[in-house]
Amino acid sequence: MILKYENDVLDEEHASGHFYHVCQGQIQEQEIMVPPPDEPYECPTCGVDLETEDFFLAQQRGWS
Ligand SMILES: [Zn+2]
Repeated sequence: MILKYENDVLDEEHASGHFYHVCQGQIQEQEIMVPPPDEPYECPTCGVDLETEDFFLAQQRGWS
């Protein structure tokens, strides 16, 4: 698991939900934004590439 998705249905301001990187098994407190398709977010700590499709997958099932 590299990405966790949380969506609070009562939080209308953030209806698209929140993404958190799971870094070496630890869920990070800082939420991360969906990167552009051609610019995956590379974590400076663990080196994993978080691509746009990982975010879509996480949105569908809560994690990726
Ligand atoms: Zn990481």
